[in-house]
Amino acid sequence: MAIARLRFALLPTPVEELPRLRQALGGPRLLIKRDDQTGLAFGGNKTRKLEFLVAEARDQGAQTLITGGALQSNHCRQTAAAAARFGFKCILVLTGEVSEQPSANLLLDQLFGAQVVHAPDRKDRDKILQQTFDRAAEKGMKPYLVPYGGSSPTGALGYAFAMKELMEQGIEADWIVFATSSGGTHAGLMAGQRLFGYKGKVLGISVDESEEWLKTHVSELASSASEKLGNRLEFTPGEVLANADYCEAGYGVLTESEREAIHLFAKHEGLLLDPVYTGRAAAGMIDLIRQKFFKNGETVLFLHTGGQPALFADKYANKL
Ligand SMILES: *Cc1c(COP(=O)(O)O)cnc(C)c1O
Repeated sequence: MAIARLRFALLPTPVEELPRLRQALGGPRLLIKRDDQTGLAFGGNKTRKLEFLVAEARDQGAQTLITGGALQSNHCRQTAAAAARFGFKCILVLTGEVSEQPSANLLLDQLFGAQVVHAPDRKDRDKILQQTFDRAAEKGMKPYLVPYGGSSPTGALGYAFAMKELMEQGIEADWIVFATSSGGTHAGLMAGQRLFGYKGKVLGISVDESEEWLKTHVSELASSASEKLGNRLEFTPGEVLANADYCEAGYGVLTESEREAIHLFAKHEGLLLDPVYTGRAAAGMIDLIRQKFFKNGETVLFLHTGGQPALFADKYANKL
């Protein structure tokens, strides 16, 4: 079955060895796949999803992309950039405290010409997103709703093909470790794992969601993503590997462990993590290495999902 896809990510993303970080931590061989280098407006994991989502929007005759997220959402920044690139209007519904000067991702959203609607209270965001969509439809703007994090079955396809790409790069890691939140990356990787026969394990470190929610949601999303590819496979919650031990501080809260992870990657490898997602996932991975969760002969691949513009958000000034 032909699946619509626009090609704008710079693929394949490189895989690099992390020898100095490995030496500092001891333990397994460490690799990193650079999905922070997907090329669209500072890159990140949403770019792969948007190749499928924007194609779907175009095929439905949409003219406006509407999505939502936190004020410093990487997903919203990449969606706004994709909208600009392919001639769509873009409306973003953003939650979080509004500062006087837009910084980091929010500043970039404005550069891309996105219209921003604020939803000060997170509990109202679904309602405001729906109202925004309905109003745009009434005005004839032909809106397409990109789900939070781009995590629909269509968006997840980006990561089913990322798994294929990784296998074609000849990488045989025992573990793929990454930040998981809205579940699309996780679900796509699992669908790809099954479809293309990847033998390693796929372990998502939760940024904000409970293990139970992730297991249910990711397995459903992986099943529907495989269906999009013309061959529905059933995934059960029990086979989703998710670790929610590192998200107690809450979404976007920088604690000492994220700080340490950011410093370790920077000082030993010259690599930048972000304060919200990859900092937290790397902190989890580092803790698991210290606990000897991985065996010594194993290879662990950290999937870098991007997010670095948030390093420059006002929110983290003087905290890093
Ligand atoms: C959105 C995002 C994630 C989480 O990906 P999901 O597919 O939503 O689970 C991880 N890292 C970064 C930098 C992100 O922006």
